[in-house]
Amino acid sequence: MMNGKQYLESLRKMKTEAYVFGEKIDSVADHPFTWEHANAVAMTYELAHDPQYKGLMTATSHLTGKEINRFTHIHQSSDDLVRKVKMLRMIGRKTGSCFQRCVGLDAMNAVYTTTYEIDQKLGTKYFERVKDFMRDVQQKDLMIGGAMTDVKGDRSLRPSQQADPDMFVHIVERRDDGIVVRGAKAHQTGSANSHMMLVMPTLNMTATDADYSVSFVVPSDEKGIIHILGRQTNDIRKFEKGIDRGNLGYGIVGGEALVVFDDVFVPNEHVFMAGEHEFSGMLVERFASYHRQNYGGCKAGVSDVIIGGSYSLAQAHGVQDASHVKDKLTEMVHLAETLYCGSIACSSEGAPTKSGAYMVDPLLANVTKQNVTRLIYEICRLSQDIAGGIVATLPSQKDFRNEKIGKYVEKYMRGKEGVSAEERARLVRLIENLSGGTALIESMHGAGSPQAQRIMILRQGNLPLKAEYAKVLAGIKEDEVLKKIRE
Ligand code: SF4
Ligand code: FE
Repeated sequence: MMNGKQYLESLRKMKTEAYVFGEKIDSVADHPFTWEHANAVAMTYELAHDPQYKGLMTATSHLTGKEINRFTHIHQSSDDLVRKVKMLRMIGRKTGSCFQRCVGLDAMNAVYTTTYEIDQKLGTKYFERVKDFMRDVQQKDLMIGGAMTDVKGDRSLRPSQQADPDMFVHIVERRDDGIVVRGAKAHQTGSANSHMMLVMPTLNMTATDADYSVSFVVPSDEKGIIHILGRQTNDIRKFEKGIDRGNLGYGIVGGEALVVFDDVFVPNEHVFMAGEHEFSGMLVERFASYHRQNYGGCKAGVSDVIIGGSYSLAQAHGVQDASHVKDKLTEMVHLAETLYCGSIACSSEGAPTKSGAYMVDPLLANVTKQNVTRLIYEICRLSQDIAGGIVATLPSQKDFRNEKIGKYVEKYMRGKEGVSAEERARLVRLIENLSGGTALIESMHGAGSPQAQRIMILRQGNLPLKAEYAKVLAGIKEDEVLKKIRE
């Protein structure tokens, strides 16, 4: 297993083509716009070497019997699924951000379980390839970026009906030794600082969209792959040093990028689906469910930091014992734990797939993520309520350090006796960072937009069965049990 330093070093050796503000950057591990996202992933490597997290950050490979980083593990039990959630919450507390590596973990589990079923039905040979790939990932301890969301063009049209055929990643050429793919994936968490990207289709596909039903893995610095980093709220602060950056080491969410695949060649051994359109929906649903499982883990961990920051600020302001402040903090804890309950529940209700690997309960996983689209907003609203208007008006670090006005900022920005202006400012900036624009939008749309969950909730909700329960009690259908006990 690599440690954090070795991971960053491995990124420096790559030739990843990444752009920030229209300029190609030299090192994703070191550029001010991207280094903090790399740090968050480095945490997933470093903590695996901490003895107190053995068994949480690590697992035993079912393929080799060796100890591996849990981020490269194929879940072998519902206990594995529960441990994953606990691991995510723990790292969320230590980064206050997105540590990105879960996307690839979920993609690997989705592809592993789905290719087993493709082979069973169609006699293809994908599953062995996936197992070889997994051995490689586990042995080299790779960071895999999972890539699903296509740019989609006109949302009312199927991939093959688009005016521009490249709105969904697709096969443009089939060769004896592999395929050539073109298109782009949007909002790609951690892609620029991953070693490889595991690409999946974004939709249920039909026969006419067969060339869009494609899944493969490629090195993130492969020829033809370009990562264009997206802007974030307050992103110019990334170029500053010190307190105005809020979260000093790990940034805001996962350094999402638009990733272009400009006629990229993929050798056969790295192709896991190439036209089997009837399995596209299964792959999408599995990936989505695994990823929605996570959000009551990582976001509950980040919420713990928000709650802690809010409490510390309340103390700095001398209001921690006011009943309305205590009530707001109580509500924040309640909401964070509600999210966590969902993630733990969908994990412990997990069940084996045909491949033997475990899958979460999809209904509960979708409910969990749907809650995140609402409850994180409320947690952030309450944190801003407690913190006060200072979140929007605090002077900059440069004002603090200014020869003439610094003394005034120090004097008038102080909290209660014993709390320096700088300590208060650091907490305020952290709350600003964690509860602001980009982080909130990530809670809304990360792992799929709310409507995507609602579609799955309705599909899994089994309304006809619920109608049966009602009809029996209303006497429209016979109550067999009542009849038996009253006979
Ligand atoms: Fe992992 Fe959460 Fe980031 Fe998704 S949002 S990649 S689950 S840390
Ligand atoms: Fe996310």
